[in-house]
Amino acid sequence: MPSYCTDCGGELVWDRKIRMHSCKSCGTMFTEAQLSEAQDRRFERPEDDEDRRRRRHSDYLDWWTSSKKKRE
Ligand SMILES: [Zn+2]
Repeated sequence: MPSYCTDCGGELVWDRKIRMHSCKSCGTMFTEAQLSEAQDRRFERPEDDEDRRRRRHSDYLDWWTSSKKKRE
């Protein structure tokens, strides 16, 4: 599984001595737990976009219903 730095997107190298991943570019250290957590967050991102789209749609519906009410 290729891993990338969550800060700069740089390549991570596994350091067996300290049992941590370190970024080749900025030197940030990541534990296995931190990396899997970051990966979970990456999977949630499309859902956030979907939620935002749904919210925008319901805003539109609110506007439509209220403008309709005003007209009547
Ligand atoms: Zn980095």
